[in-house]
Amino acid sequence: SSATAPIRATLFPGDGIGPEIAESVKQVFREAEVPIEWEEHYVGNQIDPRTQSFLTWESLESVRRNGVGLKGPMATPIGKGHRSLNLTLRKELNLYANVRPCYSLPGYKTRYDDVNLITIRENTEGEYSGLEHQLKGVVESLKYYSSGKLEGCEYLFNIKAHGRERVSAIHKANIMQKTDGLFLKCCREVAEKYPEITYEEVVIDNCCMMLVKNPALFDVLVMPNLYGDIISDLCAGLIGGLGLTPSCNIGEGGIALAEAVHGSAPDIAGKNVANPTALLLSSVTMLRHLNLHGEADRIQNAILSTIAEGKYRTADLGGSSTTTDFTKAICDHL
Ligand code: NAD
Repeated sequence: SSATAPIRATLFPGDGIGPEIAESVKQVFREAEVPIEWEEHYVGNQIDPRTQSFLTWESLESVRRNGVGLKGPMATPIGKGHRSLNLTLRKELNLYANVRPCYSLPGYKTRYDDVNLITIRENTEGEYSGLEHQLKGVVESLKYYSSGKLEGCEYLFNIKAHGRERVSAIHKANIMQKTDGLFLKCCREVAEKYPEITYEEVVIDNCCMMLVKNPALFDVLVMPNLYGDIISDLCAGLIGGLGLTPSCNIGEGGIALAEAVHGSAPDIAGKNVANPTALLLSSVTMLRHLNLHGEADRIQNAILSTIAEGKYRTADLGGSSTTTDFTKAICDHL
């Protein structure tokens, strides 16, 4: 309620369409009177030697201090001598799990009406460890997992909070016996602690076939980094595309940094046509993390009814509304 002190949260508007859709979130939060005070941080244009990246040490400290934040897409500037901004955030804040809810939006027709699943991706190791080298004509890329670093597995069984009953571990342990084998071992150990949750293991190729044929076969899917990257975009496609899908990164000490799945969309940046839904729904996952379920429900319902009504839709959903008109329609629904 407005009587309690506001909660501070870090906001990275990001690049490209980022500032436009972040403005949309700020506007909706004001309208819904959400007790959040944003601490805004911009990506710099100089490398901070303390982070070896365009993200400053103060920005990272802000997320650590607040424990919650929302991030717009970040385009990694071309050039050498710095780390990818997204990788810096994941590594420095140890954002070990990326959680992506994915459900059919009422009134927006796609091939399926009944998608309702969550993908959880291990976010810091595996194929994206960034350990690559070249020896003459031979290149090697290390798929790296350290035991005890698969916190993602533990986190994912916290799914009771999401009202979920079934977890599918997605793997290719038949071929990658050591890496995916360790992943499955960790999953099995956690599964034993949660006998009330149904646990199954599905090979990644079969999983793709099943998802496309009948996505209702799945509830929660947990997987190593690369599979998670691919499968979660596949899931976005099942419900209408990148403009719609939110995510939340979970990290060390319970940090939650929510972000849209999509990138900075340079092709439409600055034109006031981007769909803010993905970032707005990401902000809803942040509110749920803070147990602000009343505010989260109100905002989520306003977004869903605006889309269902169909009068105001952005171009990616076949409409002709601007970002600001669509945002105003959501505020009116509040
Ligand atoms: P992208 O997601 O930015 O764009 C892909 C397509 O989807 C484009 O046609 C774009 O116009 C459209 N699109 C994306 N979001 C939209 C929205 N909200 N509303 C309407 N249309 C939308 O992917 P890309 O073009 O491959 O990447 C662009 C930049 O973003 C790159 O620099 C990349 O590194 C970066 N990126 C950042 C993140 C992140 O910060 N998490 C994720 C992916 C890509």
